[in-house]
Amino acid sequence: MQPPDRYAVFGHPIGHSKSPRIHALFAEQTGEQLSYTAQDVPPETFETCVRDFFAQGGKGLNCTVPLKELAWRIADYRSERAEHSKAVNTLALRPDGMIYGDNTDGIGLIRDLTVNLKLSLNNRRILLLGAGGASRGIIGPLLEQRPSHLTIANRTPEKAAQLAEEFCDLGPISGCGFFDLGTESFDLILNATAASLAGELPNLPKNILRPRGCCYDLAYGMEPTPFVRWGEEAGADISVDGIGMLVEQAAEAFFIWRGMRPETRPVIDVLNRERRGSR
Ligand code: NDP
Repeated sequence: MQPPDRYAVFGHPIGHSKSPRIHALFAEQTGEQLSYTAQDVPPETFETCVRDFFAQGGKGLNCTVPLKELAWRIADYRSERAEHSKAVNTLALRPDGMIYGDNTDGIGLIRDLTVNLKLSLNNRRILLLGAGGASRGIIGPLLEQRPSHLTIANRTPEKAAQLAEEFCDLGPISGCGFFDLGTESFDLILNATAASLAGELPNLPKNILRPRGCCYDLAYGMEPTPFVRWGEEAGADISVDGIGMLVEQAAEAFFIWRGMRPETRPVIDVLNRERRGSR
């Protein structure tokens, strides 16, 4: 019997990763024979580890913090969405030995917002907090939804301005610091900072969330994140973390590798039950 095809997620740190659990559930659901492991890979050894993994028969990799920009550089060729974002979270070894790079974060977020949470982004004012690798991957897909404006606010304002500049050909976008946010208000606030991971929250002005507005934290954990709680206290209609996005981006990676897209709802439900059970 053939050994199962091998996949893995590389990151640093990686201990918290739910990706092995998600891909095991996808494999069970679709009947695909595969293994998926998590490996702690620091940036210094990333390229060697990727080349070794593929040389030893590995078929595909996910790359997470802080490796997405390095993964972009390693790919021999990339999808259009990855090309623009300059960040890659999915690598696939093609039959000719070339390494293909894609970024499934954006489509994962958009599916969670528009399909799972049934939100329309068209003509909405959106605020994106953070200007790191995750923001790079989601700005293009967010602008494709035709919001009336996308504001990026970041602790280091220059990085927000730089991102706005890079993506301004795709739609109405501007960049600033948290302290420049002033009296403007938004229909949707997305937190793509790493603040939640440290149990922190960016300092946001009062009344920044419009009535019936929504909050979405890309970070996720066993407990509601500080930003999810902030959204609840600010009266958000919906205030959720990024577990749905995580499953959706994984489903798109699975599609790139295996040519089939698993059902995501049952997997999101399992993960939510598992974290409720552990509280
Ligand atoms: P990066 O390290 O590339 O970027 C981090 C960003 O957070 C920067 O903008 C940084 O600001 C900001 N930041 C860090 N600490 C603080 C703080 N204490 N207060 C305010 N801002 C802060 O990380 P990523 O962009 O890759 O990831 C961001 C988040 O998104 C993480 O929580 C990650 O887990 C999550 N994520 C979730 C996914 C999902 O599928 N649900 C997918 C991808 C990411 P500065 O520029 O000033 O340093």
